[in-house]
Amino acid sequence: MTESLIIAIDGSAGSGKSTLAAALAERLGLATLDTGSTYRAMTAAVLHEDLDPANNAATAAFAQAAAIDDLDGTVINAVNYSDELRTAEVNSAVSLVAANPLVRQVLVSWQRSWVALRRGGVVEGRDIGTVVFPDATVKVFLTARSSERARRRPEEGLASIERRDELDSKRESSPLARAEDAMEIDTTDRPVSDIVDLVVASIPKQIHRA
Ligand code: C5P
Repeated sequence: MTESLIIAIDGSAGSGKSTLAAALAERLGLATLDTGSTYRAMTAAVLHEDLDPANNAATAAFAQAAAIDDLDGTVINAVNYSDELRTAEVNSAVSLVAANPLVRQVLVSWQRSWVALRRGGVVEGRDIGTVVFPDATVKVFLTARSSERARRRPEEGLASIERRDELDSKRESSPLARAEDAMEIDTTDRPVSDIVDLVVASIPKQIHRA
């Protein structure tokens, strides 16, 4: 049996994860999973249900009972949240919902099934190389200067980005962290094609698909 090719990309908000994930997926013929969208959709659903995102027991019970679509995780209990993922309300509540270990348990299990169904993929988030796929084929940890990250997310703004990063890095459950065996790459002044080349070159030859 050939080993599945899993590329784990972690990093803070605006560090370039989605851009790299899309470019790598295209080069390697893999599907991409944006796990941030799964936390965002769950947060939008919690708000839609008028639950308090700070109420850990209520949000956990909701997540545990939720029916989540198997395409990208943004349809919950048959309601499509894809247009609400980046609202100010979701931006300000998502790190709270994502800090709930029971919500994480539900979404991590969904994320692992998503990859198993496709026998691999490019997966981006905060805890992919450390927790979700500790045995990923290649792990990448992206960084970028704050001013550049803010430029990439003009609709959110630096203050909100930094607040999320702080909450995501300091939480107890699966904080944003670089896996010991991850390549750390600063994307500030680096063309995406360079980074794609670097990552593709680090895939062991026996599972090389490019
Ligand atoms: O990647 P994005 O900025 O859309 O993620 C939104 C939020 O989802 C993050 O700020 C973080 O709180 C949460 N998240 C997480 N673990 C992941 C991906 C996202 O906690 N693997």
